[in-house]
Amino acid sequence: MALIVQKYGGTSVGNPERILNVARRVSATQEAGNRVVVVVSAMSGVTDSLIKLAREVSSTPTEREMDVLLATGEQTTIALTAMALNGLGKKAVSLTGAQAGITTDGVHTRAKIAHVTPKQVHNYLKEDHVVIVAGFQGETSDGRITTLGRGGSDLTAIAMAAALKADICQIFTDVDGVYTCDPRLVPTARKLDEISYDEMLEMASSGSKVMQSRSVEFAKKFGVVFEVRSSFNENPGTIVKEETRNMENVVVRGISVEKNQAKVTVTNVPDRPGTAARIFTALARTSIIVDMIVQNVSTAGTTDISFTLNKDELPKAEAALKSVIAEIGAGGLIAQSGIAKLSIVGIGMRSHSGVAARLFEALSDGGINIQMISTSEIKTAVIIEESQAAEAANVAHEAFGLSGK
Ligand code: ADP
Ligand code: ASP
Ligand code: MG
Repeated sequence: MALIVQKYGGTSVGNPERILNVARRVSATQEAGNRVVVVVSAMSGVTDSLIKLAREVSSTPTEREMDVLLATGEQTTIALTAMALNGLGKKAVSLTGAQAGITTDGVHTRAKIAHVTPKQVHNYLKEDHVVIVAGFQGETSDGRITTLGRGGSDLTAIAMAAALKADICQIFTDVDGVYTCDPRLVPTARKLDEISYDEMLEMASSGSKVMQSRSVEFAKKFGVVFEVRSSFNENPGTIVKEETRNMENVVVRGISVEKNQAKVTVTNVPDRPGTAARIFTALARTSIIVDMIVQNVSTAGTTDISFTLNKDELPKAEAALKSVIAEIGAGGLIAQSGIAKLSIVGIGMRSHSGVAARLFEALSDGGINIQMISTSEIKTAVIIEESQAAEAANVAHEAFGLSGK
């Protein structure tokens, strides 16, 4: 008898008919002789509506109360899913994150899991129940409700699979698996049969939101092999696991696009020790996440420093830098939104040269200007105009021969 953890995302539980579809799938999995733990997200759109609702009563809701509010989305789905299973004649019980033993740190809205003690889950499984766990939420050791960051139900599923030592962990979503690029952006994108943790992590953290990046980190750390697949058909999905030798034969595994980026340039920064530290310490103090950083060659004792960030953080960054610019005697600040980041990812890039050149050539042939470049061992990323993002993704996809047959 296998123990299976299945996670169903927002679209998969988006309306009553879909919740019944999930209940039928779960029921069939149990009838095939398995013990099943199900993790569900809020119904699609619910988390966004709750965020909107909060802003209508306060422009600065506290993060503690945001967590209390957002956790209700998943709590609705666990109850409905358990009811649907009961309606099919199954023993099923719903558990909140706290009841399922998910203890987190106290960083509201993006809490980290400290430990999972799934005592109640074990007890109900022993009594042949299907256990439905609310994704995305946990509880601090002093009893406060927390949430795990957007897309956090993926993390709940992986953490549950690790804690329960599940035989199989399946992430059910609205696409057939992990594709070479978001199929909504590149229609010729191809489903991958397998991908390594490192590649999945790079793709997830550079804009491929099919998996929450923290969940992939967690899976890698605890060796949880998982499958991403569709809740709407029976097609096999994508297996995410530790890299294997033959994975290196593929130079570029996939492409990610991240929109809503902005670029900030601090001009005429005096070229002396400590100025960059002052700039980035000021940003870090306001918890702004900075992505790419470029410093130009210095001329006449000054240099320009540019960096990218999420465009929503732009006002915060401008406010944080205002006094620093005056203090260090820099020239000023140029902010630009409407840019996007395109990344190509693959562990084979470690041992192949000319990959970046091929990307730049393809973009140039497509008339796409590159504003910034960054590379890591298994990724090359460029900043481009947001309006050209889809075209750039298609051009790059073609250049690396990633399209389906
Ligand atoms: P869920 O609600 O099931 O968690 P998400 O909306 O979070 O689903 O993730 C699934 C979506 O991720 C897909 O509909 C797809 O548009 C998007 N996506 C982005 N990049 C990729 C990729 N490389 N492969 C597959 N899907 C991707
Ligand atoms: N409901 C949460 C969100 O929309 C968590 C999730 O769906 O994974 O981000
Ligand atoms: Mg998701």
